[in-house]
Amino acid sequence: MSVLNPEFIYFDLDDTLLDHKKAEKHGLADVHDHFEIFKPIPLEELIDTYHHINKGLWEEYGRGEINRHILHRRRFEETFVELGVEPSLYEEAGKVYMNYYRNHWEWIDGAKEAYDAIASKYRTGIITNGFAETQWMKIDQFGFKDTTSQIVISEEVGVMKPHSKIFDHATELAGVPRDKILYVGDSVTSDVKGGLKAGWKVAWYKSNPTELEATLPDLCFDDFEVLKKALGV
Ligand SMILES: [Mg+2]
Repeated sequence: MSVLNPEFIYFDLDDTLLDHKKAEKHGLADVHDHFEIFKPIPLEELIDTYHHINKGLWEEYGRGEINRHILHRRRFEETFVELGVEPSLYEEAGKVYMNYYRNHWEWIDGAKEAYDAIASKYRTGIITNGFAETQWMKIDQFGFKDTTSQIVISEEVGVMKPHSKIFDHATELAGVPRDKILYVGDSVTSDVKGGLKAGWKVAWYKSNPTELEATLPDLCFDDFEVLKKALGV
């Protein structure tokens, strides 16, 4: 039985409330369909290669070594090089991808019902690692401005989760003691470790809790009904 008892609840956005991975996968499928040259290359190979390269680039971006324009260019350019596809197609690929990605966001299963119920009882906010332009589009599209009191986007703060600066900034905005803040997120590094280090309570949304000691976060859940129950909504 977990005792969360928060006064303020922050949510991560991508892959906690909204299904970023699914939109990303479909966006890459569109890129795959768009170029004739991809015909002999399996879609899964494109997805795996892109993930691997994108992850490394986000780490570079997180360390302040590259800016978002370079990240946007290199994630396709380097994927194409690795797959033996003409890398100069990166610009067109980026456009095809973003065009699909930004039009296919959906809620994670059960997240909307849980979020609405929680937001009607608690003060809530969003903290997201991402580019302001894209994340604001999601926030507008899903009406988070009407239901949350604080929205924190890494690009606007200047550092990404798990950097303590973004959690300190969010703590100030929430205006309650650290141990009265609950963070709901899916990433071990950005959300669980970052939130716990900030002195917050953490509810880890994970389909496979064996990846981390289940005792580390204050709550582990793979079904939003569990979170609702723990918060009494
Ligand atoms: Mg996430």
